[in-house]
Amino acid sequence: MKSTKAQSLVKRLVGGKLSEMATYSDLFQKTNDAIFLLDLDNSQVLECNPAAAKLLDTPDLEGQDFLAWATPDSREILKKHFQSLQKADAQETSFDLSFLNRKKEEIILELSSGRLKLADYCEVIQIIAKDVTAERHATRALLAANEKLAILSTTDEMTKLFNFRYFKAELEKEHTRSLRHKKPYAIILCDIDHFKNFNDKNGHLEGDEALRRAAAILQSRSRQTDIVARYGGEEFVVLCPEVDGQQAQVLAEALRKNIANENFPHGEKQPLGRVTISIGVASFPADSREPDELLRLADQALYEAKAGGRNQVRAILKKAA
Ligand code: GH3
Ligand code: MG
Ligand code: MG
Repeated sequence: MKSTKAQSLVKRLVGGKLSEMATYSDLFQKTNDAIFLLDLDNSQVLECNPAAAKLLDTPDLEGQDFLAWATPDSREILKKHFQSLQKADAQETSFDLSFLNRKKEEIILELSSGRLKLADYCEVIQIIAKDVTAERHATRALLAANEKLAILSTTDEMTKLFNFRYFKAELEKEHTRSLRHKKPYAIILCDIDHFKNFNDKNGHLEGDEALRRAAAILQSRSRQTDIVARYGGEEFVVLCPEVDGQQAQVLAEALRKNIANENFPHGEKQPLGRVTISIGVASFPADSREPDELLRLADQALYEAKAGGRNQVRAILKKAA
């Protein structure tokens, strides 16, 4: 690129850049960033520019302790930083810190702080600050919204268990893990017995309440590593990593008993005299080496539990081909 007349002149005069010709005081006065010059020994404001006065909403900052404007947590960080600046070779540091302006409103400042050598060879602390309050608040709100969305997208709203979509994704992951590590896993499929009867006798809202209660029992009685999800309607599924068919039947039997022993309101109006569940169990690799086929087999076992009289656990005891 062809150099301008001014650039050629600067090169000839100082052999450097245009910006090197500019005076610090010109930038100091005009920049939109707040600049504070502090005493290296006691963090007192020696001088600050108009943008700094505007930032803290205070015209006469000179002579005040810069630390007094910081919130307690930020003050501790700054104190340590100022101590580190006592060393001649201290590094320029950037951080986000909180301050209170004159109206005691909290503002978040992005600070860049380091030692500045003055013409007469004394040194001060130079802090360049930018108000990033709005930006940081927007980012925080966005992160919180995303987190909430992630929870919503994996949770069944009524029971607060994981939803079917999440379960399917976890099943795929568990399958891959189990294949790689040559470990078994099991699927426990539960269905509340005669639930249509429960709704018919007690109303849909009471039905919802019973579903929530059953979900909470299944969740609290499963192992921490199990994934308990609402499969749909009045059906629940438990994915049990590192569990074979025999162990899964023991776990399933414990779940069945816990539900049958719970004193559900209106349980006495159920055909079996209480709220109960039937359970079908299938496990990898003994029953099948395909996750979808395992689900189908657990459903088949569940059907057999229903046909066998309900309130019982059945497993498919078919050997994989
Ligand atoms: P079985 O012992 O054979 O499982 O009989 P069942 O009555 O439980 O089975 P069926 O499939 O005939 O009925 C399921 C019932 O579950 C019907 C449906 O209204 C009820 N249900 C499904 N989801 C919900 C829900 O979210 N809330 C309520 N209150 N009821 C639900
Ligand atoms: Mg059902
Ligand atoms: Mg049912």
